[in-house]
Amino acid sequence: MYHAFGVREGYDYRRTDYIEGRVEFHLRVKESMLVCPKCAGQEVWRRGSRERRISSVPIGPKAVVLVVEVPKCECRGCGETFEVSPPLPMPMCDTPTASPDMSAN
Ligand SMILES: [Zn+2]
Repeated sequence: MYHAFGVREGYDYRRTDYIEGRVEFHLRVKESMLVCPKCAGQEVWRRGSRERRISSVPIGPKAVVLVVEVPKCECRGCGETFEVSPPLPMPMCDTPTASPDMSAN
């Protein structure tokens, strides 16, 4: 398992799908991140969601895709509708043996 996978606070790892030729990491936004940007209310309704698909660093011959949930919410306090999309880290880039300087020569 890829425990080094650098998912930050804000996302829960859900599952990994191994599809022919690629690996898909599915992430979902933590419930605690569902906060109204207008009034900071934490009482929100979910109004569905969409997916972002982000190509990531390949693992060997396999392409890696992050499948990230983007929830759509409505604030129960002020009625604001908003999507929640915390910033993603650049995953799996922090292998200490691969220094960018090494490729210069
Ligand atoms: Zn609100």
